[in-house]
Amino acid sequence: MTALRVEIDLGKIQANARYLVRRLGARRISVTGVTKAVCGHPDVAAAMLEGGVTSLADARIANIFRMRTAGITCPISMIRAPLLSEMEDTIQYCDASYNTEMAMILKLGAAAKKLGTSHDVILMVEMGDIREGILPENLTDCAARVIATPGVALKGIAANFACLGNVAPTACDMAMLSRLADQIEGACGPFVELVSGGGSANLQWALGEDSSGRVNNLRLGEAILLGADPATGHPISGLHTDAFALFAEVIETRDKPSAIPPASIAPELGILRLVRNDDLRTRTILAVGQQDTDTSGLTFPSGIMFIGATSDHTVVDTAKSAVHVGSEMKMGMNYSALMRAMSAPDVAKTIHGKQKMNGSSKGGDTRSFLTLV
Ligand SMILES: *Cc1c(COP(=O)(O)O)cnc(C)c1O
Repeated sequence: MTALRVEIDLGKIQANARYLVRRLGARRISVTGVTKAVCGHPDVAAAMLEGGVTSLADARIANIFRMRTAGITCPISMIRAPLLSEMEDTIQYCDASYNTEMAMILKLGAAAKKLGTSHDVILMVEMGDIREGILPENLTDCAARVIATPGVALKGIAANFACLGNVAPTACDMAMLSRLADQIEGACGPFVELVSGGGSANLQWALGEDSSGRVNNLRLGEAILLGADPATGHPISGLHTDAFALFAEVIETRDKPSAIPPASIAPELGILRLVRNDDLRTRTILAVGQQDTDTSGLTFPSGIMFIGATSDHTVVDTAKSAVHVGSEMKMGMNYSALMRAMSAPDVAKTIHGKQKMNGSSKGGDTRSFLTLV
């Protein structure tokens, strides 16, 4: 088995998806599973679907292509604005895309017409994240223009939170999104089918007491994959937080001074000074680095402390536990560490819980296990 690997427990991903689909279903909110942090890994996507999500979304066409190639046929939407160079692929592989720029929507419409089809557009509204989005006061006009554009159909509106800014939405924000849907219908006529309230940062609101109004969808990545709320980083009760684990091999473990004395040599005098150093600590080096993951987003077994990392080495303090050279260390990952590890070619992806789908090995040395269940 490859030492440096992410182990993926599909059963836990499926269970997380099922729990969220059930809880949100009771409030008439559908769940779109967001696969960008796993680069559209088809097995992970399939586990989300088995857990009951009705559609998938990703931010890159290559990831969506990977899922389609593996035989995933459910509706998939593009949650990043489609690129000019990818209009045809977006129309071909995605059922809908999230958009904010009229110039691009016109191009999408023209490309869809050329392909003899129509493409669904969801308009992203800026509600405080200050990433992508149409300003609320311009939304109705923009919706009217989409409706008038051949080749595209207005499917809905959406808000985004806690992506760039770490701000979770309030009930007030969500009520405003509902009002915007009403406003578009009042001004332009057609039914706004999808009102997507945001991502995992909205769960606190969505599972709370406030009326969900017209919000009928959330796009969930982090909550399904890691069981965590991105706005706070805290675990969400009822969800597994250990569906993914990173394994790396120990390549050195040794007692070393806890800090290199900064001035054991006094160059101005040309003499060596004696420095007391009885504070030896056990330091362990792992064969994983910044090239493989976001090392600041790793969590280590209890008693082990992160000291630092370079491109290929991660140094931890193991004073309180015996760690042997050649052994493996198991680590937890936050969203950023997971995303980097899943896209790193040197990190193998090992699937537990199900036979692998076609094409799941793209971008890494994937080995698959069959587990008796
Ligand atoms: C990444 C992303 C999501 C999913 O966010 P999570 O916090 O992982 O649930 C939803 N919508 C958009 C537009 C995104 O880019």
